[in-house]
Amino acid sequence: MTAGRTDETMSPTLFAPVELGGWREIDDGLIRINLPVPFRGLRQVNLWLLRDGDGWTMIDCGWGDEETRAILETVWRDALGGRPVTRLIVTHFHPDHMGNCRWICDRWSIRPQMTQIEWMAANLALRGLYSDDVEFRVRFFVRNGIEPELLDVFRNGTILYHLGVEIPDDYTRLRDGDTVVIGGSRWRVLTGAGHSPDLATLYDSRRRLYIAGDQLLPQITSNVSVWPSEPCATPLGDFLSSLDRISGEVSDEAVVLPSHREPFRGPGARVREIQAHHEQRLNVLRALLRERGSVTAGESLPVLFRPNLDGHQISFAMGEALAHLNHLVQLGEIRRIESRDGLIRFTTKVH
Ligand SMILES: [Zn+2]
Repeated sequence: MTAGRTDETMSPTLFAPVELGGWREIDDGLIRINLPVPFRGLRQVNLWLLRDGDGWTMIDCGWGDEETRAILETVWRDALGGRPVTRLIVTHFHPDHMGNCRWICDRWSIRPQMTQIEWMAANLALRGLYSDDVEFRVRFFVRNGIEPELLDVFRNGTILYHLGVEIPDDYTRLRDGDTVVIGGSRWRVLTGAGHSPDLATLYDSRRRLYIAGDQLLPQITSNVSVWPSEPCATPLGDFLSSLDRISGEVSDEAVVLPSHREPFRGPGARVREIQAHHEQRLNVLRALLRERGSVTAGESLPVLFRPNLDGHQISFAMGEALAHLNHLVQLGEIRRIESRDGLIRFTTKVH
């Protein structure tokens, strides 16, 4: 017998649906919670509870508001068999993952475990960097050629980080390669980048379960964005390397427990789909650049995205367009030029 599970031993409830706002024990000692989030298009986030000796380990916190807190109180009352939450692991700093962090930690007298960069990123975000300084982001979008009418949609529609996130004063550091023993199971920490700077995923190679955070999602693709605080960042290269790493280290028999949408079997096929998706986007930009000679990120939006984006989606769309353009710069195919008036263009003239 090889280690791991076969179809006969795999719990059929792993893939059973969980209603929005509800929970279900999908495998022995593994509970999925399906929490609502305020972001259109995303709709929900999955949190996980793993039985851990006399307590439970919780993975992620959800967006922080009264509605999610009421749901979590219900889950804790009905699902934990009277045992406490004794550990909280946060995959990454994004608001739908970190929102209730302080509230959960206060409630159970615990400290979150997360990577150092994600902890720092949460602190920066709460101080107005990354996301909450709306006018800083507006100036960045203007320099990148955004259509002026999109700016008001962005200003009126963006959801600020601090409105849904509170963090405690201290944390415990998780590192890439750490082994976290939870209820006798050994989970290895594999960090990924590109979507978030140092996102922690967890892999139990014996049970072949992979808690993927937002690093590998079914149906939707993880946002890979350039942010104004690092305009020359190359997150797409980081993201594609992280996907290669997942296919190399996580068994294709594993069940992926993603943060959004439904669990699925076999990371390999999904990794290849996402790689092909980004290659296709790069090809769309290559064709546009061949046709026009040069473009701004703003000029590329109608070619890359459908119309009528909301404020939150405009920000993601600009960030994604720049991630793909900066990737072509990194590959040496195009050049990024900042003109004297501050406008940033991408051109096929590389010399
Ligand atoms: Zn995320």
